Amino acid sequence: MKKTNETFFSKLGKAIVGKSTVDEEVLDELEEILITADVGVDTTLKVIKRIEERVARDKYLNTSELDVILREEIAGLLEENRSVDQETAFTLPEDKKPYVIMVVGVNGVGKTTTIGKLAHQFKAAGKSVVLGAADTFRAAAVDQLILWAERVDVPVISHGMHADPASVAFDTVKKAVDMHADVVIVDTAGRLHTKVNLMNELSKIKRVMQKFIPDAPHDVMLVLDGSTGQNAFVQAKEFTKATEITSLAITKLDGTAKGGVVIGISDQFKIPVKYIGVGEKVSDLQVFNRKAFVEALFQ
Ligand code: GDP
Repeated sequence: MKKTNETFFSKLGKAIVGKSTVDEEVLDELEEILITADVGVDTTLKVIKRIEERVARDKYLNTSELDVILREEIAGLLEENRSVDQETAFTLPEDKKPYVIMVVGVNGVGKTTTIGKLAHQFKAAGKSVVLGAADTFRAAAVDQLILWAERVDVPVISHGMHADPASVAFDTVKKAVDMHADVVIVDTAGRLHTKVNLMNELSKIKRVMQKFIPDAPHDVMLVLDGSTGQNAFVQAKEFTKATEITSLAITKLDGTAKGGVVIGISDQFKIPVKYIGVGEKVSDLQVFNRKAFVEALFQ
């Protein structure tokens, strides 16, 4: 995550060069920095307003205090995210076996890669994992998941391209129950073009899972590409309309200075960010940690 927002603090530094107090000009610069970092307009305005209020209240705000205040504000926006402890991140509730994760997101965001990385990390934590290739619209999605399953050495259920996603989900959960697996990760819908279809597809998948496990899925994880700025916001909006999203994985935060997406999305949607993708390798998935994230922004 080091490269994420590498320029955030340096930009902030430039904005306050030669200035001792936070004035309108500094706030304008800050607004631009936040927008450029993909924090999103609404969240940016919220942050600026809070700082303005502080300036008005204290009459005077030294620019040297600005980064401390920003850290506080950003940490506050991420408050909804219960920071997960790396040690316990892959510990599962005992009464939820198998633990069922349904993964949604549009094609290209890194959904399959994230599932592969997750499977690897669960396996490394001593859990048995079963994958389900229920994103059956694209052959590539199915093939990629099979490749990941081979790479991390976990079973995968696939009925090929164009198969009924719900039937894949059914067989995947059935297999997991039969083999007493700990975790099921089902790759689902990558299309957004018709909201009604998406909604129907996702609820059908849920219904068949519930035939085996009444409270499944235990987690509906939306994968977003952190480098796509406003697109990530649009996707979050569409998917939250189509189904209840319980966690987020934000990918591609390695090569971009635009990690602000994490701040804006957390603020706008109040869904905890569980994981961040920081590269293409199997080990490049981090459990999201609010403190570490804010610190990294200001390094
Ligand atoms: P899907 O279509 O959503 O399943 O996307 P894929 O998992 O196939 O990923 C699309 C591309 O993004 C691939 O080239 C991945 O290697 C790449 N990718 C996925 N996650 C990350 C990440 O965290 N960082 C970087 N740099 N690339 C990633």
